[in-house]
Amino acid sequence: MTNTQAIDAGLMAAVREFVDREVLPAAQAPDANAAFPHAVVEGMRRLGLFGTMIPKQYGGLGLDMVTHVAIMEEVARGWVSMAGVLNTHVLCCDLVLRSGSQAQRQRYLPRMASGQLRAAFSLSEPHAGSDVQAITTAATRDADGAWRLNGHKRWITNGLGAGLVFVLARNNPDAKPPHTGMSCFLVEKEPWAMAGTGDNAGVAVTEIIDKMGDRGVETTDLLLQGYRCPADRILGEEAQGLGRGFVQMMASMESGRISASALCVGVGVRCFEVAMRYANERHTFGKPIAEHQAIQFKLADMATKLQAARLLTQHAARIKDSGQRADLEAGMAKLFAGEASKEIADEAFRIHGSNGYSKSSEVERLYRDALSLVAAEGPSEIQRMVIGRSLVREYREQAEAAATAPVKHSRMET
Ligand SMILES: Cc1cc2nc3c(=O)[nH]c(=O)nc-3n(C[C@H](O)[C@H](O)[C@H](O)COP(=O)(O)OP(=O)(O)OC[C@H]3O[C@@H](n4cnc5c(N)ncnc54)[C@H](O)[C@@H]3O)c2cc1C
Repeated sequence: MTNTQAIDAGLMAAVREFVDREVLPAAQAPDANAAFPHAVVEGMRRLGLFGTMIPKQYGGLGLDMVTHVAIMEEVARGWVSMAGVLNTHVLCCDLVLRSGSQAQRQRYLPRMASGQLRAAFSLSEPHAGSDVQAITTAATRDADGAWRLNGHKRWITNGLGAGLVFVLARNNPDAKPPHTGMSCFLVEKEPWAMAGTGDNAGVAVTEIIDKMGDRGVETTDLLLQGYRCPADRILGEEAQGLGRGFVQMMASMESGRISASALCVGVGVRCFEVAMRYANERHTFGKPIAEHQAIQFKLADMATKLQAARLLTQHAARIKDSGQRADLEAGMAKLFAGEASKEIADEAFRIHGSNGYSKSSEVERLYRDALSLVAAEGPSEIQRMVIGRSLVREYREQAEAAATAPVKHSRMET
């Protein structure tokens, strides 16, 4: 059984037209490094892209994951940063839908669907990325039951423009295992303000990270100094959410990884497009370089990797749409697509010869943008850990089941 819908050709055509008309030119504009592209983000809002997978009852488009990843690929083809704005936000929508209380869904989802409220997802800290259980941001109780947050978060996509940040913090430092003492706090703040005031006092953005690529979206740190979070702003509220933040955020990262794989494919598609164009325009030894076999081999490898990355991403999305766990498939998609986009960018760069090394060349930006996807949503080493663990767990479950019942097929055999 799958809940996958037929991809809406009209919607995809509208997204492609928007990307060609507004996103691609903005990505390559001379001031793309300097100013946040509000007009492009407004265009994405108008198309409903902030609410792709939010059910229609909350004002979203109610799309499935397969359609969502097709849209993310297309937006990333235009500019990975704009897909990054959406990817983090959509991950947060998934968190509210999956783990939020009914009151939290009502409070946040309609504004998140319209893009009026942008969201950010905050696990990482200056000393802790892959090892999430090493975070030190602390939540302590006030006498009236509210929580006080103290700590330093880092690498937060949408960090400045977000009005809502999903922050993982430790509410019980003695919990064993440590993750059972962590909760996801809903930190409300004023979008675009460096420091919160009034009810939002105690939260501040103290650095906008000067990244080498992916420069159209702000990635920030977040300092929490006695930020007061009412008790009903634990994700799922206390009854369902206290001590469950780690599990909630990891579950939603499964969707985030599938979506991030689509970003890798999108960047790869654009690298292929510009490489193919250049290979047909540039002549050496009396003919377009596209007619040299060595260049055709590069194009062949690029297109093959792209197609494999896309199919892995769509497969993971389909598993997700069917309601099954997709940690294995999401890990495989991110591992393969992440490495592929980097290799495809490298080949596109080589095809451009020295012209690729000019700051005015699109492939120079694409090369830097592709590298932004290496660590985001988990580097390849961590994906291999996820894949390896899933395979061993599945083998053991099947071996146990085989002792009492006929052997089922592994997911790898289908
Ligand atoms: C553009 C961008 C946007 C981001 N956005 C967000 C965001 O919105 N929210 C957020 O919370 N974070 C965000 N991050 C942070 C990202 O999630 C982390 O960078 C990522 O989890 C890796 O953590 P780290 O960089 O601290 O590397 P580390 O965990 O310090 O790892 C360093 C290296 O060691 C390897 N390694 C670590 N542990 C092992 C192991 N057990 N076995 C083998 N190898 C290992 C890693 O693969 C990596 O190569 C973003 C990062 C980038 C670059």
